[in-house]
Amino acid sequence: MQSLHSYPAIFLDRDGVVIENRADYVKSWDEVTFISGAISALRLLAASPYRIIFITNQALIGRGIRSAEHIEALHAQIVNEIFRQGGRIDASYICPHASNVISNCRKPAPGMLLQAQNEHQIDLAQSFLIGDNVTDIQAGKAAKVTTLLVKTGWGTQFINQVQNDPLLKSPVFEDIHEAAQFIFQGAISA
Ligand SMILES: [Mg+2]
Ligand SMILES: [Zn+2]
Repeated sequence: MQSLHSYPAIFLDRDGVVIENRADYVKSWDEVTFISGAISALRLLAASPYRIIFITNQALIGRGIRSAEHIEALHAQIVNEIFRQGGRIDASYICPHASNVISNCRKPAPGMLLQAQNEHQIDLAQSFLIGDNVTDIQAGKAAKVTTLLVKTGWGTQFINQVQNDPLLKSPVFEDIHEAAQFIFQGAISA
């Protein structure tokens, strides 16, 4: 009998890991800039056995800056572009809540990872999360996945924290490509 949680996943934060952050949010396609090396990293990951799952806070929806429909369509465009360039995204979870709303989905809460675990039969113990913010690391730790911090996006601000706080302990990588190589090599040698 196949176990309920069979598939390892790589959870990806989107903004600051795959596309460039903007202080005023990514609101339209002309504001989408793929981070250097992200597409080649996604191609590398597409060839791995991992489920590739986006986990992204989009508080601009809850703040009324853009509608959920608009942001979901923009996200679909980003995912399509990744597929077009040889990558693969198996699922996406978008938290629409503003930071002043209590929810179990907005990172640092682990709700989106736990929802993915149930909907995609994810084995969290064999899974990874790549993020550029301490809230990504906190969400990953709460879901008991292996957490990786990248220096792209806001990442450099959190290096000390993830290196020194035992509850946040995470290896630090230049970017998603270096983090992907680390995971992929680990999978090969395991
Ligand atoms: Mg981010
Ligand atoms: Zn939420």
